[in-house]
Amino acid sequence: MQRVPQRFLSGLKELGEHLLLLKGFGCPFCGASETLNCHSKLYGNDPDGSEDGRMERGQRVWCSNRGRRGGCGRSFPIFLAGVLPRPGTR
Ligand SMILES: [Zn+2]
Repeated sequence: MQRVPQRFLSGLKELGEHLLLLKGFGCPFCGASETLNCHSKLYGNDPDGSEDGRMERGQRVWCSNRGRRGGCGRSFPIFLAGVLPRPGTR
């Protein structure tokens, strides 16, 4: 059974650990394995005002459609649940 990445993680530490395991997960869209790559980090304005007005909200992950494995080229975000406006909504 293919494991797919979680879409919400509770903090930066969990996110970092999850990203280390990224290659072991399958793409949630096309099911390809070993195609997932880190894309760009997600930032958002914190309404409560972090110092520089930016805070890390998550990581965009990309299913690589280049190379021999042939993913689907789609990307999706993994959010940090702790910085969502309304965490815990499922
Ligand atoms: Zn894919």
